[in-house]
Amino acid sequence: MTLNPFEMEGTWVKGNLHCHTTESDGRFSPKEVVERYKAGGYDFLAITDHDRMTIFETDELLLIPGVEIAMSRSELGENFHVVILGLEDIGSLDELKKMEIDDLLGDVLSRGGFAFIAHPYWSGLTTNDLLTIENLSAIEVFNSTCDNVGKGYSTVYWDVLLSQGSDVKGLAVDDTHRYDLPPRDLMRGWVWVKVKENDLTNIVDSLRKGLYYSSMGPEIYYFSAKNNNIEAVFSPVLRANLITRNGKGFSIKVDDLDQFEKGGYEELDLEIYQENDNVKAYAIGRYNIEIKRRNSGIISVRAPLSSFEKYVRLEILDIFGRFAWSNPMFI
Ligand SMILES: [Zn+2]
Ligand SMILES: [Zn+2]
Repeated sequence: MTLNPFEMEGTWVKGNLHCHTTESDGRFSPKEVVERYKAGGYDFLAITDHDRMTIFETDELLLIPGVEIAMSRSELGENFHVVILGLEDIGSLDELKKMEIDDLLGDVLSRGGFAFIAHPYWSGLTTNDLLTIENLSAIEVFNSTCDNVGKGYSTVYWDVLLSQGSDVKGLAVDDTHRYDLPPRDLMRGWVWVKVKENDLTNIVDSLRKGLYYSSMGPEIYYFSAKNNNIEAVFSPVLRANLITRNGKGFSIKVDDLDQFEKGGYEELDLEIYQENDNVKAYAIGRYNIEIKRRNSGIISVRAPLSSFEKYVRLEILDIFGRFAWSNPMFI
């Protein structure tokens, strides 16, 4: 049974889990980096310099202690980049790098920390590299910096893992190096974490439990898969995808709704059953699916769970080309 952050008490807090400063190859000092994320409305930040723990004291933002290490060899001979968060005393990095990656991730978990594999696509990992890691909690599914060379999205890896039954969560991060220098990598990908209290302990605890979703802009207000229903409610988007195993799943675009309204699709058994306050509700009888739209944006989808397999996750895309991703719900 997957814990559902959208059905839990608490508040949503926003943070970036991966960035660099002048302590490694980033353009700004820790102080400047904190100031930028604070000004951007973030609640927390993890500074994750390469091969060193950057310690910086501030009251401006909650800082999760972090580091990014390159280690081990992938199937194709590349490095894995691992981000380790939430451990004050990480010990010898050289020793950590000598470990098998699965053992390292297990060690971090057992010590109360949170670790994930950064940018699988950019790193040139194979799905086999990830499938063999039993202690894998999460991977980056979006990385702003890697997007600047066209390799920002690693969602295909995610679905391969999920299809194999591996309950891996997805993270959007900046991996900020250049900040506002074009092509910018500042504040383009983040996580919303559901916490009981807005403090470091609760944030790390919720990360470990998968109580978060990732975004580049759109907001997810509700997502659940239970009682033979998938329900998703979100800020207005151009497209909503309910993604599951194999070739199944469901995707709807505003453009599809416009086409349906023009008519000629009797086989879909389409009905507009509500129309007020700029909200239109569509029922597609053939698939037993309901969709709501406000003006030119889709704002909710309800679908029967029976046609989905193993897991379902929500992925939405707004008019600016920005995605948001729920974590998977296992069925
Ligand atoms: Zn990296
Ligand atoms: Zn990095």
